[in-house]
Parts: sequence; C-alpha cells; structure tokens
Amino acid sequence: MSDIFLVAEHKDGELKRVTLEILGELIAQGIQPEVLVVGAPDIQKLAGALGSKGAEKVVSLENPALAQYTTEGYANALFQYLSTKSPKAVVAGATPLAKDFLPRLAAKLQAGMANDCTEFNVKTSPITVRRPVYAGKTSKQVSFVTGPAVFSVRPNVLAFPADAQKTPQVEKVSADAGNVRAKIVEVQASATKKQDLTEADIIISGGRSLKSADNFKIIFDAASAIGAAVGASRAAVDAGYAPHDMQVGQTGKTVSPKLYIACGISGAIQHLAGMRTSKVIVAINKDPEAPIFSKADYGIVGDLFEVVPHLTEEFKKLRSQS
Ligand SMILES: Cc1cc2nc3c(=O)[nH]c(=O)nc-3n(C[C@H](O)[C@H](O)[C@H](O)COP(=O)(O)OP(=O)(O)OC[C@H]3O[C@@H](n4cnc5c(N)ncnc54)[C@H](O)[C@@H]3O)c2cc1C
Repeated sequence: MSDIFLVAEHKDGELKRVTLEILGELIAQGIQPEVLVVGAPDIQKLAGALGSKGAEKVVSLENPALAQYTTEGYANALFQYLSTKSPKAVVAGATPLAKDFLPRLAAKLQAGMANDCTEFNVKTSPITVRRPVYAGKTSKQVSFVTGPAVFSVRPNVLAFPADAQKTPQVEKVSADAGNVRAKIVEVQASATKKQDLTEADIIISGGRSLKSADNFKIIFDAASAIGAAVGASRAAVDAGYAPHDMQVGQTGKTVSPKLYIACGISGAIQHLAGMRTSKVIVAINKDPEAPIFSKADYGIVGDLFEVVPHLTEEFKKLRSQS
C-alpha cells in the first residue's frame, strides 16, 4: 500500500498530460503511487490510460456532487479519503484547477505546501522539492520537515513516460463532497476556443516585433490553418499584445510541443527556458544573428509580416490535400 498519492486531473474524459509526467517520475524514483481520480465520468477509460504508463492502483472517488468541479467538493472528498490513510506525500499537476483545490486540501491536512515545483524527490527524508522564486530569477530547494508533503509540479518539466502496459486495480469509493457552499451557476467557454498551451502538439508564438494586439491576427491565422495553439513572449505580453496566459518562458508556461514556431522572438534565455524541450523548433526572425537561431532546428531569415502569411497559405494547401 502506497503512502504517496497522485491526484489525477481529467477533463472531457481525458487525462492531463502532467498527471502522466508525474506518474512516470514517481515510478522512475521506485515509487508506485496510489492514483486518486475525483468525479470521473468513465473511470475505466482513465484507468486504462494510467495503466498504459505504469499505474497499478487507481482509486475513483465517486459522488454525483463531484461530477462538476468545485473547490470545496474536491478538497472535502480528497481530505475525507486521505484522513483514512497516512499520506507521506500528495502531489498534483500545477494546473489552475490544482492551484485552486490543493492549498485548501493542504490546510485541511495541516500540511506544508509547495506550488509549481520543477523537481522533486520523494525518496529523501524529509521529502524535497525545487521551485522557482522571485519571478523565476532563481529557484530554491524546499524540505518538508513535517508531513505530509503537499506539492504541485509544473507541466512539461518532466519527461513524458514510455509505455508500460499495466492493468491497474481500480477501487471505487463513495466519496463525501461535504458542504459545498459555492454553486456553479454557469460555465462560459472563452469566446475563442483556445487550446491549452501546455498540452498542445504545435505552438506558434509571436514576440514584441508584432507591434500590436491586432497584428497578432496573422499568428492566429497561421495557427488555425495548422491546428496550433498560440503563444507569446513576455515582451509581447508586457506590451499588451497578448494576455499573460499565452506567455511562454520562465515566468510563463513551460511547453514541450512536437513543433514550436517562434515568430519575431529574439530567443532570450528566459524564453528558451519555457520551450527548449520542444521536439522541433522553427525560428522566423529578420536578424540572422538572433540568438533563437542557435536553438532552432530550422530558421527562416525574413520579415515575419511577409513570411507568416505565406506559411499560412502553404499550411492551408497542405491541409486541403490531406
Ligand atoms: C526574471 C525575468 C523573467 C522573464 N521571463 C520571461 C518569460 O517567461 N518569457 C519571455 O519570453 N521572456 C521573459 N523575460 C524577458 C526576456 O528577457 C526578453 O526580454 C523577452 O523574451 C524578449 O521578447 P521578444 O523576443 O519578443 O522581444 P525582443 O527581445 O525585442 O526581440 C524581438 C525580435 O524580433 C525580431 N524582429 C523584429 N521585427 C521583426 C520582423 N518584422 N520580422 C521578423 N523578426 C523581427 C528582432 O530581430 C528580435 O530578435 C524575462 C526576463 C526576466 C528578467
């Protein structure tokens, strides 16, 4: 029986990639965690996906009140279950959802909590994690001197695990969502159905060189032609051309897509920190000396206002042929 608990995150019947990244890292450290899934509509499907990456034990916390996410419902159900165990660590992905319920769960467990960790070691005593501080200028190692250790792990900083076909044991538990005082009245999808940057296979990002929010349209057009998510450099975000949730880099999101296309981005170290593990990097920049080219697999020296619309047309042609 494991005393390390991984809270799996799922949306629309699919697991978040970061859940599998953490699972892979725990298994690499010789730990077989108990994976907790809250309010899943189809636990067998999720258990299959967890088993394909090596999970052996999945616990489904079930209650109709958990079908829709609420901070209190998740925290109450997890607390009720974990109070019957002796957890040494409770870990989840550092997603907006976990950043919402995990601190409340930690408070209920009277545990210390570290958010947005980039490394962890659950084999050490005490458990240690590393997390960025001072807006990413440096990082610090945190030790949990009393247990349990509650922490979240930043998406895309750990390797995606290889396949390890297992058939996990699935235990269904009738969970208590407790007194949920906040009611969800309505869920409004954002007007433009944005892909989650941390999960996207293809990302096209724009930098300060776009010169305005309106000009970002050429990046969005290229992205929609190829089914990509849109990212931005911090300079573009600070200038108000793109919202912060699109920022890639040390103080933004860490991404690891199959293809990353950087348009008019210089390649500052803080930007590279968020995308350098992309499988293929393409850079478009009018300065042949731009640092981004030293990290790029393919480089196009040119004006993005000419190159990007041209690429968009080529993407459309390719798509219409396939
Ligand atoms: C603590 C700290 C944290 C930070 N965190 C982040 C972070 O998370 N993410 C991040 O991105 N940055 C971050 N930064 C900022 C980072 O140092 C850079 O300032 C930023 O990445 C620069 O953005 P940029 O490349 O868009 O702009 P610039 O550096 O201004 O580069 C613009 C580039 O566009 C090219 N260009 C201009 N016009 C065109 C054109 N028409 N066609 C093609 N190319 C063109 C130029 O040659 C240049 O290379 C951080 C900095 C600090 C100090």
